[in-house]
Amino acid sequence: MKSGLLSLLACPICKFFPLQLKIFKWETDSDKFKHLESIIEEKKIEDLKKDIQIKVLKIENEIKVKDYISRSEKPLSDYIKELDKIYDDILSIEDKSNTKSSKILDLIKNDLFNKIIEYKNNSGIEKQPNIFEKLKFNIYLLNWFLFFAEIEEGIMTCRKCNRWYPIIETIPQMLPDEIRKVKHEKEFLQKWKDKIEEDVLLKAEPFNLENYLICPKCGHGFETLEVKDIICPNCNLVFNR
Ligand SMILES: [Zn+2]
Ligand SMILES: [Zn+2]
Repeated sequence: MKSGLLSLLACPICKFFPLQLKIFKWETDSDKFKHLESIIEEKKIEDLKKDIQIKVLKIENEIKVKDYISRSEKPLSDYIKELDKIYDDILSIEDKSNTKSSKILDLIKNDLFNKIIEYKNNSGIEKQPNIFEKLKFNIYLLNWFLFFAEIEEGIMTCRKCNRWYPIIETIPQMLPDEIRKVKHEKEFLQKWKDKIEEDVLLKAEPFNLENYLICPKCGHGFETLEVKDIICPNCNLVFNR
């Protein structure tokens, strides 16, 4: 899944949006992210152009932009409004992958949107004719992050109904409660438990890890309400919670 999809998604159960997205692992080659660090330091926009194409038209004094966010050619002032609309979505993304990508996200959250706020406060294009040049590098970076980089594993949570949805092998799994694969998805929670907040791990709907245990000997995961003398159904080890 690409992070940009978040702007098109709502919770399938309660329809709330935006969902909160946590990225655990990228499918995109980690070399790409390492490389991106030098791209950021030296603002090498040409290197970003290899992965994403943004159409920028300059007709006399007017600039029109078409990218993965606006989808059609828009005059710059309208285009900036489109960017502004996805600000809440961007703030809902957290990168827990321990790669350089979190730096990119920080840069987008801070630098790009600070410039947009400054632009809005200065009341638009007339007062800031060079605004596109100021934003350009960050716009490339934003498109790269949202529409080129592919998430392999992550989680989406809904703040309203408290549900969680996994992203497994790049696919967001947003199924109704009754057909969710409980065992498989609990194993997923267990796998990433260090990157998920306790509230989700132990309380989220439609199921969580509150009564889930991992056998210390064989690693088998199972449900139990017992505190003492728990017997692993796989290897028969007796242990306490
Ligand atoms: Zn919901
Ligand atoms: Zn066991």
